[in-house]
Amino acid sequence: MGDSTSVMGHWVNHSYAPASDGGVMESLNPLDDSVFAKVAEGTPEDIDKAVQAAHEAFGSYKDSSTNEREAWLCKAAELLEQRREEFIRLLMEEGGSTRKKATFETNKSISFIRAAVGMVRHVSGKTLPSDYPGRISMTWRSPRGVVAVITPFNVPLIKASRLCANALATGCTVVLLPSEEHPVISLKFAELLKDAGFPAGTINVVTGNGYNIGDSLTAHPLVKAVSFTGSTVVGKHIQKLCAEHNKHVTLELGGKNPLVIMNDANLQKAVEGAVRGIFMHQGQACVSSSRVYVHRDIYPKFVEIYAKVVSGLGMGDLDDPETIIGPIISDRQRQRVKRHIEDARDKGATIAAGGNWEGNRCAATVLLDVTSDMAAFREETFGPVVSVYPFDDFDDVMREANDTSYGLSAAIYTSDIELAMKYAKGIEAGMVHINSPSITDEAHVPFGGVGDSGFGREGTEADLEAFTELKWVTIQA
Ligand code: NAD
Repeated sequence: MGDSTSVMGHWVNHSYAPASDGGVMESLNPLDDSVFAKVAEGTPEDIDKAVQAAHEAFGSYKDSSTNEREAWLCKAAELLEQRREEFIRLLMEEGGSTRKKATFETNKSISFIRAAVGMVRHVSGKTLPSDYPGRISMTWRSPRGVVAVITPFNVPLIKASRLCANALATGCTVVLLPSEEHPVISLKFAELLKDAGFPAGTINVVTGNGYNIGDSLTAHPLVKAVSFTGSTVVGKHIQKLCAEHNKHVTLELGGKNPLVIMNDANLQKAVEGAVRGIFMHQGQACVSSSRVYVHRDIYPKFVEIYAKVVSGLGMGDLDDPETIIGPIISDRQRQRVKRHIEDARDKGATIAAGGNWEGNRCAATVLLDVTSDMAAFREETFGPVVSVYPFDDFDDVMREANDTSYGLSAAIYTSDIELAMKYAKGIEAGMVHINSPSITDEAHVPFGGVGDSGFGREGTEADLEAFTELKWVTIQA
């Protein structure tokens, strides 16, 4: 961020603090791997300090008034709107987002914070009938306490804004562990929450490598709920730890999402959906449509048009609104994308578009003739790579679409509403979209998946449950 010597510390109690052992790590600009910023490399001791701060703040924050929490959330949305360009640039320079994706993400984040305002007055209970005459029976809902929010590299602002806003709306306080690939944006977002008026200690950010310090956060006795977004392998590990310590957990994990195109679909819209569905943020999206199934009647025509459109996707300046394909975040991710393409090529797949790299950018790639022995068939690539398969009838495609351990989002293009509803009913996924791609989200919907794609849901309604406890209270007359 300009000054190569300064180090951004952890954000604890509304101020920056260095790592307890002085550790520093670099955040790289994925376009050329130049150093974007230096941040503190956290230790378990740093995690403990942040959790203690959040716990202490919870003591009074839980009793803050609805008016106060609404005002702070409204102000946070307003500030993000005012500082939109700063956050767009952070997404571009720290995360390799195109301007198009960074603008989308920042606007979505503003809408997520605004939606959280509505949660504040829904931290409520009910009155219940009773078996015992004269008894008044009711439920109260109260914030759980300190929430750990662990976020991935691909949508760091969407995840930080939604989950921090939702947790703060309910009266919880937060310790945020952002991805080691994209830490600065979360620190800046925490600063923004301070400027919006949230009290010290309500939002804390520890930067560092989750692999080394994540367990000390998840297992910390003062952390009452964990909201994790990331890979399935890390998610399952966190789920085990939460089970051991008996704490509430929400997991938003990976996907291998199918998009089915029937022979009665509007072809132009289906092509557009299959492009947007996978190539947004160069395929680094959990809900990307990475498997496209096309009815054999229209398969040759679809492939011809699709490959042409995909080959023309812009790989220019990230600032250019026409640019769709930016760099892949890290060397680890680049190796995975390369492995999937090379493995498919070696085992006989046809590359109808892309397959080549320009620096850290992988061209938008369309694979045909993908078979079950190829890594791209089952594994999440998390890059700009899509496999296109022909199918003969609905029952076959239903079986193929469900042949995955994941179950996040699914899509179908057809003009037959009955068939579309049959698909929506039969597909094993948490979300289904008819005549639009699998990639979409809104603040209030139950966002999430089944199987290896997650556990629980995220969104204003779901997080109200996730971040609060119910208490049963009676008064005997
Ligand atoms: P990742 O699992 O490598 O890392 C995610 C976060 O977990 C990072 O902050 C990391 O530091 C942290 N972490 C690592 N080990 C940990 C541990 N033991 N305890 C606690 N935290 C730990 O994932 P990634 O590469 O950053 O993101 C890509 C993955 O995220 C993909 O699989 C993608 O599908 C998924 N994702 C899912 C959603 C969703 O809502 N379902 C959204 C975005 C991304």
